[in-house]
Amino acid sequence: MLDSQRPTGILPILRAVEIVPKIVIAGQDLRLQENALDLNLLRNPVDRSGMSWNAIASFGPKALHGLNLAAQDFASRRRPAPAGLAEASTHDLYLAPHCDDICFSLGAFALKRRKGVLLTLFSKSGYVARPQTIAALGDERIAVISSLRQREDLAFAEQAGLRPCFGGLDEALLRGHDPFETAKAQDDARQLDGAVIAAIFAAAAEQPKDRQPWLFCPMAIGGHIDHMVVLKVVLRHYNALRARWRIAFYEDLHYASAWQARATGLARFRHLAVELKPQRSLWPIGAAADKLALVALYPSQFVEPPASIKPFTPAQRIPAPAHEALWSAEQT
Ligand SMILES: [Zn+2]
Repeated sequence: MLDSQRPTGILPILRAVEIVPKIVIAGQDLRLQENALDLNLLRNPVDRSGMSWNAIASFGPKALHGLNLAAQDFASRRRPAPAGLAEASTHDLYLAPHCDDICFSLGAFALKRRKGVLLTLFSKSGYVARPQTIAALGDERIAVISSLRQREDLAFAEQAGLRPCFGGLDEALLRGHDPFETAKAQDDARQLDGAVIAAIFAAAAEQPKDRQPWLFCPMAIGGHIDHMVVLKVVLRHYNALRARWRIAFYEDLHYASAWQARATGLARFRHLAVELKPQRSLWPIGAAADKLALVALYPSQFVEPPASIKPFTPAQRIPAPAHEALWSAEQT
């Protein structure tokens, strides 16, 4: 095969080939369950020139991405988290599309830092896990549910030492959208751009005097349209926001607790944020019971109180403690 005919996605597999043997040597049983990629080929990568390009091309982009992601997870497991990310400031800004997103995705991280602002942007909602428990109808129902969910967020903010703010925006369902119709995200991001960016700067009224604080933004894993709007607006205004904050992106839980949803979401994020080249850092949650106690502050979102930490830790193909995850391109 001529060079010009080789698959364009070949660099990721070469990087993965370099890293995967280390995973095997460490005694980890790495498997990609949802595809038939034969890792034996990668366990003997000595003669790369003898590798069949046809075989590589047949893996498909999904398999390549899954393998690359497992390798990055492994690297983040071994690499210490950047020292700068451990610095907490009262000006740190946690961006939550909905009530509960920061608690589910970064609750243990926020609880440890006990500083910053929690900004819940789409704080008008009509969703509860048990709809029959709310008798009100129409506009009154939206008001009752929004108030209920905001009270849950207030309880979490108090517990985690965060100053709560609500953006007052309608969630996707109230705007008449299927929440997972990702094709609508671009239009919505354009229409809501001014409101979202105004809410972000309004929540940060004071000018920080210490080192640049952090802004924590969802990666939109799971493809919820409101999460995608927040991500797209932050990326569109990245330079203006970066002048004030250091920026890190968090893996959205519970969505990231399913491997395929996580792999798909991270691939989409990488495509949207292609210039950033962020690195993953892993933040163990400590005692699972402590994070579950935070999650339990949101009873309206569960039919039964969650008993397992599994939906609240990112899915992995390597052994890892229950954790939360941030991706950042910041050097410090
Ligand atoms: Zn959400």
